[in-house]
Amino acid sequence: MNVSRSSPDWRSRSGHAAAGLVLCVALACGGESEVELADSLLLNGRVYTFTWDDPAPDGTPAANAPFDAGGWHPDAEAVAIRDGRIVFVGGNAEAQAYRGGGTQVYDVGGSTVLPGLVDSHVHIAGLGANLERLDLTGVTEEEQAVELAAAAAEELPAGEWIVGWGWDEGAWANRYPDNRLLSERVPDHPVILKGLHSFAVWGNRLAFERAGITAETEAPTGGEIVKDRNGVPTGILLNNATDLLEAALPPLTQERLESRVLAGLQAMAAAGYVAVHEAGADAALIQTFENLEREARLPLRVYAMLQGSDEPLLREWLERGPDRDIESMLVTRSVKAFHDGALGSRGAQMLDDYSDMPGHRGVGGAEYGFDWELIARTMEAGFQVCIHAIGDAGNRRTLDFIESVYQAHPEARNYRHRIEHAQIVHPSDFARFAALDLVASMEPPHAVEDKTWAEDRVGPQRIKGAYAWRTMRQTGVPLTFNSDLPGSDHDVFYGLHAAVTRRDKDLQPEGGWYPEQTVTPEEAVRAYTVWAARSAFMEDETGVLAAGKWADITVMDIDPLVAGSTEPGGLLNGSITLTIVGGRVIYPEAY
Ligand SMILES: [Zn+2]
Repeated sequence: MNVSRSSPDWRSRSGHAAAGLVLCVALACGGESEVELADSLLLNGRVYTFTWDDPAPDGTPAANAPFDAGGWHPDAEAVAIRDGRIVFVGGNAEAQAYRGGGTQVYDVGGSTVLPGLVDSHVHIAGLGANLERLDLTGVTEEEQAVELAAAAAEELPAGEWIVGWGWDEGAWANRYPDNRLLSERVPDHPVILKGLHSFAVWGNRLAFERAGITAETEAPTGGEIVKDRNGVPTGILLNNATDLLEAALPPLTQERLESRVLAGLQAMAAAGYVAVHEAGADAALIQTFENLEREARLPLRVYAMLQGSDEPLLREWLERGPDRDIESMLVTRSVKAFHDGALGSRGAQMLDDYSDMPGHRGVGGAEYGFDWELIARTMEAGFQVCIHAIGDAGNRRTLDFIESVYQAHPEARNYRHRIEHAQIVHPSDFARFAALDLVASMEPPHAVEDKTWAEDRVGPQRIKGAYAWRTMRQTGVPLTFNSDLPGSDHDVFYGLHAAVTRRDKDLQPEGGWYPEQTVTPEEAVRAYTVWAARSAFMEDETGVLAAGKWADITVMDIDPLVAGSTEPGGLLNGSITLTIVGGRVIYPEAY
């Protein structure tokens, strides 16, 4: 992660500035008015307020944007904050009027000040869990993964579970490992190694024994137990079958879950985020968020989507109704549902056969556990729904479903429903996203991570509607960008770089992968700030830097608008210097 702790020396605290608690200044409207002193003041920033209009569908900045032949220019230098809200944005000199003896002053020394970043699709407990697990991200060979598991086994008493995560089931799909070497090297500990995107797990013999998975075990609908010629499980479970092994793990205590959630949220604060949208909270996770909110321990804002597969939880919330109080740190007015699987493991539902597996079209809808009736009821009750759809059939059927709910309940159109991933879309379906007032919730990292195999799955034609951010913009579909962590690195500099270049961390491929689908640096920042705020109904309170809005602010050491348009590779070198939520500095901790 590209986040470094800022050195404290650029910061200064004013001890004795203006006398008195209230200053009088002449306002432009005439007459004198009392100005309340600020609790805190950011000075000497390259401040981009994002209060100008949206760019055109082709990315051209609006006429009132701070952009000219010389490129981007900040449109302010200073921000004053009081009682959790912004009270002034403008020049350094004018900002002095808000400075009093008790004002904490942050001289950001030319750093860039942006509206607070939002990651609009995360699995926060997963991030926290990864901080505890054997890390297999970046591992490309079976032997390497096995050696890491063997090393972990040496540290643990026999019989204890070894949980690993991060091997790339998309990249490994044509040569899945089996349990032979793993069982030989780690015979006395059950081992479960989860795939990067949670669509495959790999286990050793002891783990399969503990889970009771044998040649006789049948895979659940929408899942596969990979078996050899003799019908014996090889050690790999796919899609819905992954639960068979995960169910054998010791249960997670509430205490452990809470510590994972906090670890995950703290990592996000350090990465510059002021809010996350949790993409699937079950009853235990909702309980954890509620406890943390009640005890005022949520460091940043949490917009929680209820887990659609947790039926008792949904029924409980159907009674309660959506929580629309956005002044609290936790907002619960949204439901997450899965329509189909993932592309890498060929679970995404396609209109035609997979190009690299004739006769196979993936799995979706009721077969994948999508409860049409229950999800329709939540829409009718005023919840926003956020539906995971990856394949072109998965997306089309999700659009059909939403359209049918609008026909029966026209008021359901008012809730900015989202399609999560919207990964492979048939050319004739883009316009339907706009016609149905949907938000496309997409992950710039996915494009650059999947590029090596995505075209194998769908071929040269369908790939043109894949990860198609520019087509969405051109069609008038609102976007929000996110990481889908822990499946992808949530580092916003990586996300911005992927969005603007369609190149990976090694700057491959040169020229970008289907570069016609890139967005501009301005669009990318908007998709992580003001557009993300809109996708959670919060744009009246946040997403731009202006007097009256929440003081949710991210400060970084590079200017993403300038770097993104002049030397985009430099985006990867950015780091976060300050994260502020409701006027409170949540990163670095020392504040
Ligand atoms: Zn997700």
